[in-house]
Amino acid sequence: MAERFTGSFTQQESIPEEAIAAAVEVMRGGRLHRYNTLAGETAETALLEQEFAALTGARFCVAVASGGYALGCALRAVGVQPGETVLTNAFTLAPVPGAIAGIGAVPVFVGVTEDLVIDLDDLAAKADSADGAKVLMLSHMRGHLCDMDRLMQICDDAGITVIEDCAHTMGAAWNGVPSGRQGAVGCYSMQTYKHVNSGEGGLLITDDEDIAARAIMLSGSYMLYDRHLAAPAPEVFERVKYITPNISGRMDNLRAAILRPQLRALNAQVDRWNDRYAVVEQGLRGTPGLRLTERPEAERFVGSSIQFLLLDWTRDAVQEVLARCAARGVELKWFGGVEPAGFTSRYDSWRYAPSQPMPSSDRVLRGIVDMRLPLTFSLEDCALIARIIRAEVSAVFQATPPVQAG
Ligand SMILES: *Cc1c(COP(=O)(O)O)cnc(C)c1O
Repeated sequence: MAERFTGSFTQQESIPEEAIAAAVEVMRGGRLHRYNTLAGETAETALLEQEFAALTGARFCVAVASGGYALGCALRAVGVQPGETVLTNAFTLAPVPGAIAGIGAVPVFVGVTEDLVIDLDDLAAKADSADGAKVLMLSHMRGHLCDMDRLMQICDDAGITVIEDCAHTMGAAWNGVPSGRQGAVGCYSMQTYKHVNSGEGGLLITDDEDIAARAIMLSGSYMLYDRHLAAPAPEVFERVKYITPNISGRMDNLRAAILRPQLRALNAQVDRWNDRYAVVEQGLRGTPGLRLTERPEAERFVGSSIQFLLLDWTRDAVQEVLARCAARGVELKWFGGVEPAGFTSRYDSWRYAPSQPMPSSDRVLRGIVDMRLPLTFSLEDCALIARIIRAEVSAVFQATPPVQAG
């Protein structure tokens, strides 16, 4: 009988006991609001910001309500105005173009390569174009880092400010530099499916004192910014405090309390993710018709999900693979479906934003198959999952040559 996987692709690990105890402590005190502190007390939220700044080496950090909020806040804080264009990835998650549209700006999509990173030639061309975007919101989608040195060169040469969407790269690095530290701003998500889990939550880091002060004012600090530990000096706030609107999206102490112990464990968790990734990757290597992404030497990634390409396969053949894997308990997501489903939308799904057809990106997007690797999977689970995918991809590939003509 064929092997079957019975685990859940959406089940995360429990919140660590230490984090639960810290959360209970906050609830006992009743002071959940970050600015509700006793004399001499430092809020959990302020400590979280200080610790995340130290972890990434950033000067400033602000904790907010979600990753999407952090992205919108970053766009405002760097000064994007309604009607302006913002470059971003054609292959990303809906909150990224959503953050751009949310401030009344207009996304301009940059293509994706077979290595699942932003197409730097397309970026270079669009960076030079007349409609003059001054900001790139760079999404490290599914944890793939592009050649960050070349990307920063292109953007620096064109005078483009980079905001990094690090929802899938918290804990990752390029040439030893933590992801989120090459651009002017780095934004992270602590939503349940990311690398630390408070249900919802976001972090924004920067070395720029004006961006930091504006982000803190925007997040809803009223005039209580002196209670932050990873914030610029009071005189910086004097420059911005009367002209920056309060768009409330603060983090609360309960979530911060849950997150602090998880941040301390982040590096160890990254290793556990990468152990799982390596087992699946090894099990899939050499499967006929299936292309794995080779990860560059400079990239320290977090294997919390894995992608492979069924490049130039017909839609019917890909769907056949998905159905056969699903029947054996393996849940795969596909970015090539006609309709967006669950998390898998793409640039032509976001019809509020204008886009031109991008044939080479379309070819890649049609082939992207994606799978989560929660830490609740054992290494044996990962090996079993890889065997199932390998068997079903091979079976479909051999039965019906699935490759599109021309
Ligand atoms: C999850 C996610 C976000 C935004 O995070 P939320 O906390 O859900 O708002 C941004 N970008 C990508 C690529 C994501 O996966």
